[in-house]
Amino acid sequence: MGFEIVARDGAARAGRLATAHGAVETPVFMPVGTAATVKAMTPEAVAATGARLVLANTYHLMLRPGAERVAALGGLHRFMNWPHAVLTDSGGFQVMSLAGLRTISEEGVAFRSHLDGSRHLLTPERSVEIQRLLGADVTMALDECTPYPAERDAVAASMELSMRWAERARRAFTERPGHGIFGIVQGGVHAELRERSARRLVEIAFDGYAIGGLAIGEGQATTFAMVEASVPALPEARPRYLMGVGKPADIVGAVKRGIDMFDCVLPTRSGRTGQAWTRAGALNLRNARHAEDPTPLDPECRCPACTGFSRAYLHHLTKAGEILGSMLLTWHNLTYYADLTAALRSAIRAGRLADFSFGGAAP
Ligand SMILES: [Zn+2]
Repeated sequence: MGFEIVARDGAARAGRLATAHGAVETPVFMPVGTAATVKAMTPEAVAATGARLVLANTYHLMLRPGAERVAALGGLHRFMNWPHAVLTDSGGFQVMSLAGLRTISEEGVAFRSHLDGSRHLLTPERSVEIQRLLGADVTMALDECTPYPAERDAVAASMELSMRWAERARRAFTERPGHGIFGIVQGGVHAELRERSARRLVEIAFDGYAIGGLAIGEGQATTFAMVEASVPALPEARPRYLMGVGKPADIVGAVKRGIDMFDCVLPTRSGRTGQAWTRAGALNLRNARHAEDPTPLDPECRCPACTGFSRAYLHHLTKAGEILGSMLLTWHNLTYYADLTAALRSAIRAGRLADFSFGGAAP
């Protein structure tokens, strides 16, 4: 999997990730397509926002419809009619957060499906196999998501287990042109554990490196401190992915610290609850002050919600629980995130990241 850095500004980089399903410009935000669909969006609409890489969730897809079934139907790209790149997570995060009766051992995680109670064993090898069956361009190594807060010794032991799993996942990965596997830095909120984890992953040698287990309540300053502890230990020439982040200002701050890739449910989930991210800050369309407002949601935005409709109409749809409200606000929010990352790429190329601003999204 090729990765080329085309411009630098301080610690930030603008790059190009070459996948089997096209090039992806970085910094990039990946819309979350949990169950092989970005909720409330057609694939054409997702692509129209500018997205060329989406995330799909291994945990959900292994349980329903099943990885072998997706493979038999031609793989995830064909199944969901998404011709661009796909990154799948390892399944670990959702096993920890959704599944019942989890037992973690050296071998992997045994758990019961939250859908029907069926028993499953997710190992580093099985996770890689599922992601190969799905046809992911980017595969993530299985890690244990350390709870937060946790005692330092417990965090260290969990991180070491994740590193042994990372080695097994790397070995299980089948090299194919345009496909890659990323390892995940763990270590909680402890800088020295983060650095040790990053160094261990680099010894194993991945195609890219993720920083996981953050944005779970530790606060932005700590998130950034953990990024700063991890990034110097990672190779300059490989992509870096901060998992589950975040708000626009988190993305700007992390890009300035050398992060290239992001994912978060925020723009899609909040789009379904009447929350919009605009150049003037976050807005709640449920608020009565929008009820008679004929102006667009964000006058500088190119999306259909902003070019075709008023705030009053979007307020009405949201209040009435209309499906179109979810569709339009999701489309808008994903456009906002795509335009934010495009503006970051331009600022890096122009060497003007220091005075970057994008409406409310200051670091
Ligand atoms: Zn818009």
